[in-house]
Amino acid sequence: MTNPLLAEWHTPFGLAPFDRISDADFAPAFDEALAAHLSEIEAIADNPEAPSFANTIEAMEGAGEALDKVLSVFFSVAGADSNAARQALQREFSPKLAAHSSAIYSNAALFGRVRDLWAQRDTLGLTDEEARVLMLTHRGFVRAGAALTGAEAERMKEVKSRLAVLGTEFTQNLLKDEAEWVMPLTEEDLEGLPEFVVDGARSAGEAGGYDGPVITLSRSLIVPFLQFSPRRDLRETAWRAWTSRGENGGATDNRGIAAEVLQLREERAALLGYPDFASYKLETEMAGSPERVRELLMQVWQPARAAAMADQAQMEEMLREDGINDDFRAWDWRYYAEKRRRALHDLDEAELKPYLQLERMIEAAFTCANRLFGLEFRALDQPLYHPDCRAWEVTRNGEHLAVFIGDYFARASKRSGAWCSAMQSQAKRPVTKAPIVINVCNFAKPPKGKPALLSYDDARTLFHEFGHALHQMLSDVEFGSVSGTSVARDFVELPSQLYEHWLEVPEVLAEFATHAETGEAMPKALLDKVLAAATFDMGFQTVEYVASALVDLEFHSGKAADDPMAKQAQVLESIGMPSAITMRHATPHFAHVFAGDGYSSGYYSYMWSEVMDADAFAAFEEAGGAFDPETAAKLEEFILSKGGSVEAEELYTAFRGRMPGVEALLKGRGLAA
Ligand SMILES: [Zn+2]
Repeated sequence: MTNPLLAEWHTPFGLAPFDRISDADFAPAFDEALAAHLSEIEAIADNPEAPSFANTIEAMEGAGEALDKVLSVFFSVAGADSNAARQALQREFSPKLAAHSSAIYSNAALFGRVRDLWAQRDTLGLTDEEARVLMLTHRGFVRAGAALTGAEAERMKEVKSRLAVLGTEFTQNLLKDEAEWVMPLTEEDLEGLPEFVVDGARSAGEAGGYDGPVITLSRSLIVPFLQFSPRRDLRETAWRAWTSRGENGGATDNRGIAAEVLQLREERAALLGYPDFASYKLETEMAGSPERVRELLMQVWQPARAAAMADQAQMEEMLREDGINDDFRAWDWRYYAEKRRRALHDLDEAELKPYLQLERMIEAAFTCANRLFGLEFRALDQPLYHPDCRAWEVTRNGEHLAVFIGDYFARASKRSGAWCSAMQSQAKRPVTKAPIVINVCNFAKPPKGKPALLSYDDARTLFHEFGHALHQMLSDVEFGSVSGTSVARDFVELPSQLYEHWLEVPEVLAEFATHAETGEAMPKALLDKVLAAATFDMGFQTVEYVASALVDLEFHSGKAADDPMAKQAQVLESIGMPSAITMRHATPHFAHVFAGDGYSSGYYSYMWSEVMDADAFAAFEEAGGAFDPETAAKLEEFILSKGGSVEAEELYTAFRGRMPGVEALLKGRGLAA
């Protein structure tokens, strides 16, 4: 019998036949599909005909179809519905996939063809999108080190593998430091803590085999402890432990690793011909250069710092009122901020929840997409990988556009967080493919017969992930490698963060935020409270974030520092870091930057996207409203349909008529003067 993963899928819209696939099918299908892709690639590389766009670049775009199918099914279930067998398969597949990709990038004959085409690019008569895909393919090879030969190629291999080892060590040291520290609490120490923190401390104590409640370095326990504990001495102990993760001397100290990582990254960039690592990293980003990142961050820094210092002055008074005659310290911030929050915005999540029903919020997301882009959603009855998954056919003017799948409820087999992925990306060449897109979330599943209720954050997540889904579903490009969310990292959160704004449009909440029992719309006073609470303590949050982003950027600009801790101190001093705020992630536990390459000199990108989403939504407001049809048409034409087929800056400028300024972001964060 043919492996169902490799057979033709005679299913509606090309959905995987989940009901016919078993775990035993994955490994043989994976090996066969991997080998098939490799031989397709070798055939392209060894083609006796002279290289052309069609026989090289387009052929590469079309290669690996079986592998795409196998992986799209496997990664869907491995992330959202895992089990021991799937975890074992994942451990087996990931080194094989890494080796596969490196085999393709080090295929000299293949790179030779790509390089030849690149050299002749102006005489090939390429369309803009073909030229872009050629550029991206060539750049991908060069950045992977394909152009290096001899000793340099060897050294590149060593540098990469040493960096991989150091990244893993950094993470493991951090985990050890986090696991080892506990602070036992007596019954008196629990006084003043809310029930959920007390429960958390008790179950952490039980889980760790202690006699009573303990505080650990888990973010979900230590942050609320710092927020609620009236015991200043305990807050100081907890805060010191938390902020010195990776910096405790001995075998788990990450400072030496950070220094070596920075040196090796500098060497890697130099081997590839870049002046420094930030220039190498930012080449593929919308920001483009370290200077532009620095400029953005510094524009936000001053107003954020000013707001934080003003908040601190008020909290210093509260400290005095508590009879404490000491400077306001870092371990005081969250505690007094929480007191202030309660005084200013008495928002009760329990009061809010009945108004945020999952069903109504899905309807709200769909209705906004209908009003903005004319999309229609029709429920499909298709077997998927878990009974909680639901599918819809997405059409416009009666024509099929995409399939959208929602997998909303938390379960033990699902990893945490929320994400959007394409089981099939949109493409027209070499074959036409309509997108199949899935949103996965972790909302609490209600008891049988009760409606699922969301927190406000959950509702925002639902809109966020649906924004990513729109980027995939409205994609209208030729090639899969540049479709949908295949864009620069500092551009990819624009559609998702932008879509969150529609949740906050008063008419949307008025229509869809209806009480689960009474059906009544959310009262205006409650809505106002929700919106006001969103900007509370933003000075602090912006300062701790921007400080981390600046240190990350300076680490990778210019010559690598021999002593990263000294460099960190120097950067913080130069920007006037407030003494009562620390970096959100200090160097010895800055996993975004040192556990791997993902966010190195890229930690800024969250804010880069936020600048754009705030400015892009302002375009709707300036044009007359959140559903202004012309602005929506432009958003689709210039951003949502184009994927990565055009440079991000060009797309944004076409949509908005200019690049974004920071004004809308400052306003959105409540930091505008
Ligand atoms: Zn996102």
